[in-house]
Amino acid sequence: MKFNTKAVHGGQKPDPATGAVMQPIYQTSTFAINKPGAHQEFEYSRSGNPTRQALEKAIASIENGKFGLAFSSGMAAIDAVLRLVKPGDEVVATHDLYGGTYRIFTRVYKDYGIKFNFVNLNDLGELEKQLGSKTKLIWIETPTNPLLKIIDIKRVAEAGHKNGIIIVVDNTFASPYLQQPLKLGADIVMHSATKYLGGHSDVVSGVLTVDDEALAKRLYFIQNSTGAISGPMDSFLVLRGIKTLHLRMQRHCENARKIAEYLEEHPKVAQTFWPGLKSHPNHQTAVKQMRDFGGMLSFSLKNDTQNAAFKVLDAFNLFTLAESLGGVESLCGHPASMSHASVPAEVRQQTGIADSLIRLSVGIEDAEDLIKDLDNALSAI
Ligand code: PLP
Repeated sequence: MKFNTKAVHGGQKPDPATGAVMQPIYQTSTFAINKPGAHQEFEYSRSGNPTRQALEKAIASIENGKFGLAFSSGMAAIDAVLRLVKPGDEVVATHDLYGGTYRIFTRVYKDYGIKFNFVNLNDLGELEKQLGSKTKLIWIETPTNPLLKIIDIKRVAEAGHKNGIIIVVDNTFASPYLQQPLKLGADIVMHSATKYLGGHSDVVSGVLTVDDEALAKRLYFIQNSTGAISGPMDSFLVLRGIKTLHLRMQRHCENARKIAEYLEEHPKVAQTFWPGLKSHPNHQTAVKQMRDFGGMLSFSLKNDTQNAAFKVLDAFNLFTLAESLGGVESLCGHPASMSHASVPAEVRQQTGIADSLIRLSVGIEDAEDLIKDLDNALSAI
């Protein structure tokens, strides 16, 4: 099956109880047990629920994996993965991670005796120096947030696998439509399903996909033991979102291209970060591992001050100033004071998150209207 067909049908069948074409919302905590001592597929909704299972099968199908697991948020999915490591173990991760991922690494799991080493994952020499017998996980985010750097998943996976390390890819920014990390050698793919998978800014959710049965069993044990599962209503919303993922992503990418090209030429803009631009330092890697270049982009101003960025953000009409991304509507944000406020200022400087950096989640509106809004907002400085 091709991707577009999988998005609509992957892992789905009409409801066996009623024939309902769309997965019903089984809003129940528990299920009648046929006979004392009997074990059945659904017994208690933390352990399994048909609506959640439908979502888990759908995500496995579109990520080209065998097993899916759905959680109450992207952070809950990340938390489940981190429970694979033990005190004394080490994790290697990319520099410019999503702020919440950086926070759970350095302010939650560090206190449990796990060491996190942040490296430029595109520098294989630097990466190999960090890999030792204690390294258990490599955490890749690509495209990165908010600078849209692209990490070569295949090269990192090869280096990690030589050392028996589990490779995790946060695929939130790309979505499975643009990039399928399991095919490139990853062991676990993670998503904040709150973003492109859900696609309508109406649900908080997270998912994991794996191919290896033993790893899936370990993660299922963690999911069931710790309990941060996706509820039936939330699972339904993500499942419904997935059915139009391919259509939405096409428009997100088309609009982002037009906006990136406009910004690149704008006299007040210092730098535009979008992996589809030839000027992007990782453009060739993006061409190699992605189908298109996504709906996320960032730009910095020649007047590199927070004040200038705030003036632009304040002048937008169509772009809404808000956390999050990946919905049908366009959003704007200021990473230094919003998504990356939990990253210390000196780390932000080192990674290149400028004070004037503005991040856009380009929606599926008409590109002409979005460019008019940008033009007007930039005239405020
Ligand atoms: N990973 C990335 C790249 C994100 O952007 C986010 C949220 O913004 C998360 C993980 C966390 O997901 P959630 O907010 O669904 O917990």
